[in-house]
Amino acid sequence: METIHTVAWMKQVAAEARKNERILGFVPTMGALHEGHLSLIRAAKNQCSPVVVSIFVNPKQFGPSEDFQRYPRTLDPDRAALENLCVDYLFAPPAEEIYPPGFRTAVVVEGLSERLEGRSRPGHFRGVTTVVLKLLEIVQPRLAFFGRKDAQQARIIRQMAGDLNVDSEIVVCPIVREPDGLALSSRNRYLNESDRRAATALYRSLEAVSREISAGERDAARLLIALRRVIDSEPSVSLDYAEIVDADTFEPVASARKVCYVLLAARVGGTRLIDNALIEQTGANFQVTL
Ligand code: AMP
Repeated sequence: METIHTVAWMKQVAAEARKNERILGFVPTMGALHEGHLSLIRAAKNQCSPVVVSIFVNPKQFGPSEDFQRYPRTLDPDRAALENLCVDYLFAPPAEEIYPPGFRTAVVVEGLSERLEGRSRPGHFRGVTTVVLKLLEIVQPRLAFFGRKDAQQARIIRQMAGDLNVDSEIVVCPIVREPDGLALSSRNRYLNESDRRAATALYRSLEAVSREISAGERDAARLLIALRRVIDSEPSVSLDYAEIVDADTFEPVASARKVCYVLLAARVGGTRLIDNALIEQTGANFQVTL
């Protein structure tokens, strides 16, 4: 695996691959790699060659009181994990490569970026879309891989790519979970032992919604009552938001139908976690994917 630190070299390597009509796959990450990231990389390896993985802790997507400084940076084990999966290129630019002095441009997907995560973390998606568009411009992959763990982010990136005529196909991969259901996240390493146990409440609250759906409940307000009951039973977990939204508009729905998401964010001790479930209707049947 070759590690690339500059935009110019990354562009040159990617251009060469495209010129040779190779199917370039790209997986953007902030590092502290876990099985969730690795699942995206495996999906990329299955469909593409060469595969580029980026590791860049993007300062612009963190609010002033968020965890940018303490966000885990584990480049050596990350590099070993990528070598192990036979990744071709690691793009790990320093911040000045991505945001040189005088940088002034931002990319904003209106509407979709203002709700849910966007409301709780003002400016977050502006930072995400700005860096992801830059990375897609630098690498110009045929396919770019994102996780459904960040469902709103994936929806916003797909919108941006369509609106701005980005030629990359946006592929969204399933959520990878711990055996007890907790969605893998780089931030899980902030959890102490008791918070780690309490954090399963997010998954259990989505399971409660899934059970209600199986029992025939469709009313969003009643489904969310079942969700809150689980969250409220854990004193160290406090809900930031829980909503059932249309999978396209991300606007709240009155009842589960067609394709929608149950989305939630909660604080466990000092750590903010998010999770979601996908609800799909086919005919009279409802399927819930956690
Ligand atoms: P991050 O490093 O947190 O920016 O995440 C990089 C990519 O990995 C994003 O597309 C995330 O949605 C995805 N990702 C993070 N956690 C998971 C997970 N548990 N399962 C699947 N994908 C994930």
